[in-house]
Amino acid sequence: TEPLSSRDPEIAKAIEKELGRQRDEIELIASENIVSQAVMEAQGSVMTNKYAEGYPGRRYYGGCDYVDIAENLAIDRAKQLFGCEFANVQPNSGSQANQGVFTALLQPGDTILGMSLDAGGHLTHGAKPNQSGKWFNAIQYGVRKQDSLIDYDQVQELATEHKPKLIIAGGSAIPRQVDFAKMREIADSVGAYLMVDMAHFAGLVAGGHHPSPFPYADVATTTTHKTLRGPRGGMILTNNPDIAKKVNSAIFPGIQGGPLMHVIAGKAVAFGEALRPEFKDYTAQVIKNAQALADQLMKGGLDIVTGGTDTHVLLVDLRPKGVKGNATEKALGRANITCNKNGIPFDPEKPMVTSGVRLGTPAGTTRGFGEAEFRQIADWIVEVVDGLAANGEEGNGEVEAKVKAEVLAFSKNFPLYPEL
Ligand code: PLP
Repeated sequence: TEPLSSRDPEIAKAIEKELGRQRDEIELIASENIVSQAVMEAQGSVMTNKYAEGYPGRRYYGGCDYVDIAENLAIDRAKQLFGCEFANVQPNSGSQANQGVFTALLQPGDTILGMSLDAGGHLTHGAKPNQSGKWFNAIQYGVRKQDSLIDYDQVQELATEHKPKLIIAGGSAIPRQVDFAKMREIADSVGAYLMVDMAHFAGLVAGGHHPSPFPYADVATTTTHKTLRGPRGGMILTNNPDIAKKVNSAIFPGIQGGPLMHVIAGKAVAFGEALRPEFKDYTAQVIKNAQALADQLMKGGLDIVTGGTDTHVLLVDLRPKGVKGNATEKALGRANITCNKNGIPFDPEKPMVTSGVRLGTPAGTTRGFGEAEFRQIADWIVEVVDGLAANGEEGNGEVEAKVKAEVLAFSKNFPLYPEL
């Protein structure tokens, strides 16, 4: 019965400070969002106590009646959201969802074809330091120099040359829609499976503002915590019964033990929220906001990779201002604007430096920002970046302090978790 504040004041304090940080800063990290109180309540529930290896109705432990209700609801709602026949909601993360598919469909040493990290792909799509790059013969495709769009001709050439068993579409820094039909065509030309990793844009698909991976993908993976606005976690979807069976065995007992039932309860709540009409409006606004942010940044003299976005994410090319991604991330941080440095396609800088930052609108949109607010945020970013351009890495302290004060005042108008 002892509250956290007295049982463990150090952790209580860290959590309180994190809440304060989230309240006082503008969150532009494209992979983050703000879950509802209801999602947090489910995730912070007694379901954390329960072991439930197996699947609903077929568990290796007794006492699973109520966690089965939660998992069945999560599965049914996921299937309804994405219009598919099968969902495995047990992956503990997006990385484990991908690992689950690889375990289901591949053998070590098999060839996979995914987007390279520096072009916008994810580590788990075959990057060298990742298990996917170590255990498989990972071939990587990229984007075209002239427009930074996926080079489908290169994907076809690499597929024809290397005959991958699995082709991966999707990534972590792709501002434009992927042509799933084209990727299917390429996969079919070499008899490969097509996996779509929709971790970033799953919420936009659920809201009806982005094409669905189905019917093109054999299997789709996602995180549940980005645009989908659920607890941190992963999920695997398919319409193919044979793949479904293999995926279930791959997740448990293949790569995981007991599922995180409290997180699965949180996923069910988030999927229920995403099925509501308001979620359609939310995702439409996420995209409009990203487009407004991109437009206003370009007016301020910055370049946007591909000239804009059709999603929630944009990649800012800082080179017109002569500043670097790492210095920009830090300077914006000093002004209470949170984002991450990110390589741009063909970036001349090292990964820890970069010529870009990645920005996203899912969290700000949840907080209630509209296009006018995102245009204001763009103006603040330009002010801070101009300070860096004029003064080097140290930036302009006066401008940063002024923007920080304005951000603090602005944030007060968009209360975050007022009940906490
Ligand atoms: N796939 C993509 C496209 C991602 O962007 C991410 C997360 O950044 C992942 C997979 C991995 O998700 P997690 O961080 O939950 O392992």
